[in-house]
Amino acid sequence: MIQVQNLSKSFQNIKAVNDISFTIDKGEIFGLLGPNGAGKSTTLNMMSTILKSDTGTIHIDGIHLNENSKECKHLIGVVPQEISLYEDLSAYQNLLFWGNLYGIPSKEMKESIHTVLKLIGLLDRKKDLIKTYSGGMKRRINIAAALLHNPKVLFMDEPTVGIDPQSRNHIFEVIETLNKQGMTIVYTTHYMEEVERLCDRIAIIDSGKIIAQGTQSQLKGLVQTKESIQFEFIFLSESNVNQLREVLPHSMVQNENKLLVECTVQELSKVITACNELQLSIKDIQLNKVNLESIFLSLTGKQLRD
Ligand code: ADP
Repeated sequence: MIQVQNLSKSFQNIKAVNDISFTIDKGEIFGLLGPNGAGKSTTLNMMSTILKSDTGTIHIDGIHLNENSKECKHLIGVVPQEISLYEDLSAYQNLLFWGNLYGIPSKEMKESIHTVLKLIGLLDRKKDLIKTYSGGMKRRINIAAALLHNPKVLFMDEPTVGIDPQSRNHIFEVIETLNKQGMTIVYTTHYMEEVERLCDRIAIIDSGKIIAQGTQSQLKGLVQTKESIQFEFIFLSESNVNQLREVLPHSMVQNENKLLVECTVQELSKVITACNELQLSIKDIQLNKVNLESIFLSLTGKQLRD
């Protein structure tokens, strides 16, 4: 559905996007995950014709974006980071404004607005002024505006920044509904939990470069780090650890009363049973999961959120 090849963009001496390539299949939710300043918005802005790339090509549904930007615009809906709504107009009036910009014929307008308001769950608030809406509700109207012309592809740039958990969940549900209806979605964020929940495939971006891409399990396979559980005991002797080694196959590292066991959460009960049999009293348990955060850390030496 989307092919991005060797895309680059500089602002004066800042290489915001540096020779990135990726492909997105039809019906996928594709996540662009990276810290602030990584180049996510610049990439998305080039894909949505807002910015012109310095080099590289973008194809959407087989159409060359730079050569046929008008045709591409019909295929894409864009949810920008900033909320772009008139505070003193109602939700309906705002959507009417956007609908006119998109060139939606007037006889289809009412139905389009009704459909998108229903989808985002704000049909009953359509006559209320935007200034009476919460931040999360405004974001949902922003999403509705991008959907008015029924695009095939939806670009979303950090759509949950600064909103309450309830609205965030609502947005996730809208994304999942759209995706089930066949829409391809490109989603940028610096929240790993969001891509873990939503995305089929992910590109991790840092300093303008894609440093890894694939499904979550492919990305987990890239790093040496293994899932582990740290136990803290009231008391743990070296001979206790040796006894545990006799009954458990896992690799273990002792640090005074703490024991790091290289095992998965599913194996936790077996380890606890072995500890109980040796009458070891557990004081604390900490799970060290391999997730996108730890993958990012292992690939870049940095945290996703600084
Ligand atoms: P992200 O969306 O991942 O936070 P951006 O794409 O917004 O990152 O920014 C990537 C880099 O490009 C940053 O260093 C940012 O400061 C710079 N940048 C983005 N837009 C502009 C611009 N219009 N002018 C100058 N520098 C910019």
